[in-house]
Amino acid sequence: ELVDFSLEQIQAFDEQVQAFVTVTQAQAKERAVHLQDQLLTSWLAGIPFALKDNLCTKDVETTCSSKILRGYHPPYSATVVQKLEDASGILMGKLNMDEFAMGSSTENSAWFPTRNPWRLDCVPGGSSGGAAAAVAAGMVPYALGSDTGGSIRQPAAFCGVVGLKPTYGLVSRFGLVAYASSLDQIGPLTHSVEDAAIVLEAIAGKDRYDATSVAREVPHYIESLTGDIQGLRIGIAKEYFSPNIDSGVRMAVEAAIGQLERLGARIEEVSLPHTPYALAAYYLIAPAEASSNLARYDGVRYGYRAEHAENLLDMYRKTRSEGFGSEVKRRILIGTYALSSGYYDAYYKRAQQVRTLIRQDFDEAFAKVDVIVSPTTPTTAFRLGEKTEDPLTMYMNDICTIPVNLAGLPAISVPCGLADGLPVGFQLIGRMFDEQTLLRTAHAYE
Ligand code: GLN
Repeated sequence: ELVDFSLEQIQAFDEQVQAFVTVTQAQAKERAVHLQDQLLTSWLAGIPFALKDNLCTKDVETTCSSKILRGYHPPYSATVVQKLEDASGILMGKLNMDEFAMGSSTENSAWFPTRNPWRLDCVPGGSSGGAAAAVAAGMVPYALGSDTGGSIRQPAAFCGVVGLKPTYGLVSRFGLVAYASSLDQIGPLTHSVEDAAIVLEAIAGKDRYDATSVAREVPHYIESLTGDIQGLRIGIAKEYFSPNIDSGVRMAVEAAIGQLERLGARIEEVSLPHTPYALAAYYLIAPAEASSNLARYDGVRYGYRAEHAENLLDMYRKTRSEGFGSEVKRRILIGTYALSSGYYDAYYKRAQQVRTLIRQDFDEAFAKVDVIVSPTTPTTAFRLGEKTEDPLTMYMNDICTIPVNLAGLPAISVPCGLADGLPVGFQLIGRMFDEQTLLRTAHAYE
């Protein structure tokens, strides 16, 4: 019944929303029949879900919404996918995204843009725009996305759903197509904080295939949702309430903070003085790592290969020229430049130093408070095409989310009302590996 319902919703809404790049209808139905006769004990058993198209799925095309991966059928599934399958979940399909997760609106998809279910002429955010839109439109109860600089939280905010970026190292990245490996994390987009807790528990944990995953016992997150935040210390970082934040967004977030205070939390001001440098540091570190990660798409090993090449070099050149979109090329160029000898110290090394300062800002703040609150995004969803001509204004959208990735911290975006009829999200940032306090606070508010 759930699979049929999910398929009906996809049929009814996806022609307009265009969240899916692949619907695995036949496999999903077959699996539902297969699971029907089994004794299922997992919370996620029989529950449909969908995946951002940068998560490898065995024998199901995985494109990262890029021409260069057209026709790529991975020989294995990502660890998170395997875990959801082991929990008897049912995959409904793969979701649209900005090409290689580079973008904030899903307009950088090589296939088509996804639309915001709340207002079809607006973007769903990105890069996990397909995931946020599919959950918001009720096509699947939950989806997995990836977050390198805000790509789970920003689209969650734009589409009025919950989006969680776990601590770096909590969830295995094995089988996630790498964008910027020191920043990427996989996390859930859901309707509620409770659902986020359940999905997180299912996907977290040490994986021998990802050396950066951390060996810690995975808590029973659902147990931390007590509703009690009496005495919790919540920090407001003034740097996140700059004049760039829209007044409607600011009002909704301030109302949410008021609500947390009424629930017994103590609100304190904290300072994260290096916040203004986060965007610049990110746009050196992320492209630098991307330029290295994307070197593997050479037309030999994966997906697309250009035709009529005269020799090997020409084949590489043609494949990459035809296969990558313009934002991806821009990032490869910036990254290669920043890493080249003679510039490395001036750009990449300095950016890494700034990253350390940002992490220290958070360390100092978390000596005083348990959770930090901010808007997730400076504005609500913008119109399709509004920012495509100017990459810098597009980059500005991630101003509140990027510092969190640089510091490796967990953060969640929770819906906190509407501004001009569009959803607003507020962001809660936690201490490393303290998803429990984060989820407890978000759940108490919700
Ligand atoms: N919008 C940011 C970028 O383009 C973040 C993307 C992400 O988190 N994957 O890099």
